[in-house]
Formats: sequence, structure tokens, C-alpha cells
Amino acid sequence: MNSSNETPRTPRRRSPPRLVNIVGVRQLSPRTVRVKFGGEGLKGFETKGPAEHLRVFFPDQASGKLTLPVLTPEGYSFPEDLERPPSRTFTTRTWNPETAELEIDFVLHGEGLASQWAANVKPGDQAVISGRPQGTYFLDYDADWYILAGDETALPAIATIIEALPASIPAQVYLEVLDNAEEQELPSLPLVQVFWLHRGLNQAVPGQMLLSALRNIRLPEGNGHVWIGCESSVVLSAKRFFIEDRFLDETRIHAQGYWQHGRLNHPDHDVA
Ligand SMILES: Cc1cc2nc3c(=O)[nH]c(=O)nc-3n(C[C@H](O)[C@H](O)[C@H](O)COP(=O)(O)OP(=O)(O)OC[C@H]3O[C@@H](n4cnc5c(N)ncnc54)[C@H](O)[C@@H]3O)c2cc1C
Repeated sequence: MNSSNETPRTPRRRSPPRLVNIVGVRQLSPRTVRVKFGGEGLKGFETKGPAEHLRVFFPDQASGKLTLPVLTPEGYSFPEDLERPPSRTFTTRTWNPETAELEIDFVLHGEGLASQWAANVKPGDQAVISGRPQGTYFLDYDADWYILAGDETALPAIATIIEALPASIPAQVYLEVLDNAEEQELPSLPLVQVFWLHRGLNQAVPGQMLLSALRNIRLPEGNGHVWIGCESSVVLSAKRFFIEDRFLDETRIHAQGYWQHGRLNHPDHDVA
């Protein structure tokens, strides 16, 4: 018997994976492909706010076969006797509940499983995604300012944050991309300033230009928030800088490694 008056905690239910169809593929820039997912599998899909992410499961690289979820009495799940297919984390760039279509922007950085999949995907192909997105970045509507910073992998998340930002809150946005051709159109708000940084091909680890730009920032007056997403080591240095040199309270910084130099399938839980 529960001796306290606490309500017993409901166990967290894993949301079943969804089998989805690729219904559109659009090259946004030389290194970014927007993939549109649709189909019955997206019934009941929901988003709660900006910068959410989910897992996309890919075909086995050796066999080319995609492990499909099977229907069990508890709903869809991956077959127990098979290894879970390889997956990577991506941002839900757009979700249209009317057409039940979801879009994800994939960076074609070269070597990776996801990058190679995105370079070759075509309408009619199938994919599996996790059941529901996570990691909503809830905005502070009383904030005096926002600073948003990232590389190409965080560009989709930053775009969703700008889309959700009230027009009355000023924001400085720093985006490091390869070159001019990788710049993307972002929602234009009168108080949002966007600074594009072009790393070119010479930088060993992307993010160094972003870090230099952030180190030159003087924080605006009032209470604000910093959001950073890019290569893991850069995220750590940037977070340290805002705490130690700009005396920003840690609770006002969301800093997340979006990928790690030299590491496959970087985990998505290392909020720096
Ligand atoms: C919360 C979250 C949201 C994300 N949203 C997106 C998104 O919307 N779009 C997107 O494209 N990515 C996004 N990412 C990043 C993506 O998950 C990683 O880039 C992932 O490693 C890509 O998988 P892969 O199979 O292509 O490469 P992996 O097999 O994981 O890695 C292979 C090699 O490529 C390197 N590598 C990985 N990513 C990059 C890169 N961008 N540039 C250069 N080298 C790289 C690795 O260091 C490794 O050496 C997100 C990550 C997180 C944590």
C-alpha cells in the first residue's frame, strides 16, 4: 500500500516506432537535403514546440535491408529477436498536421550512414522514425534577449526557434556554414539579426569561427538566454566562456553537442 499521499508515478511508455514513406526530396543547398515524410504511420504524430528531435532508423549498410517494426499486442515495436537498426538524431524541421507530413533537413557531410542515406533517398522509399519527438526548447516570453548559435546541423533547430520567437524579443543569431551557398532563408523578424560565418574548406574542426564570434559578444542588457548547438568540443568551450567570462547563469544556457568530431552516432543526451 502507498503510505504517502503521493500519486503513484505512471511508468514512462515508450512510444512505438513509425513506418513512414518518403514523399518528397528537395535539395536546399549543395550540402543540405530536405526530406518529406508522409503516410499512415504519421497518424497521431504531435509536436510541442521548437528544436524537437527524433531518431531516424536506417537500413543495414551491409545488406541494405531496413528492419521494419512489427505489430505486437502492445503496438508496433522492433522484432525482439533482431538487433535494433542503426539510427541517428534529427530535428523535426516542419510538421503539417493537416497533410500529416513531416520534414527533416539532412546535412550531407560525407562519411556518415545518415549523410549517405540522405544523399541517395528518393520518393517511394521507406524509413522508420521514433514515435514522438523530444527535447522541446520552451521559450521564456519574459526574456529581454536571445543569442542563438550553431552550425549546419543546428540550423533546422534554430529556424524553428526563430519561428516561435515573439516579435518583441530581440535575438542575435550566429550561424557557421561552409560557404555562401549554404546560407538559408530564415524567418525575418525586425529584431532578429542573423550573422552568417563562412568557414571555408580550411578548418580542421568546424565551429572555430563560431567560437571566435561568440567570444566577441557583449551580452545585451537585461535577462536573456543563450542556445548553442554544434560540434561537441566547441559547445563545451562556448558554454564555459559564457559562464566564466560573461558570468551568465548556467540555467540561462542551453548548450548541446549535435555531433562529435571523429565519433559515429554521437549521443543526443550530452547537454554540455
Ligand atoms: C538534438 C540533435 C538534433 C540534430 N538535428 C540534425 C538535423 O536536423 N540535421 C542534421 O543534418 N543533423 C542533425 N543532428 C546531427 C546528426 O545527428 C549528426 O551529424 C550525426 O552524426 C549524423 O549521422 P551520420 O550517420 O551522417 O554520421 P556518423 O556515422 O554519426 O558519423 C560519421 C563521421 O562523420 C562525422 N560527422 C557527423 N556529423 C558531421 C557533420 N555535420 N559535419 C562533419 N562531420 C560530421 C563524425 O564525427 C564521424 O567521424 C542533430 C543532432 C542532435 C543531437
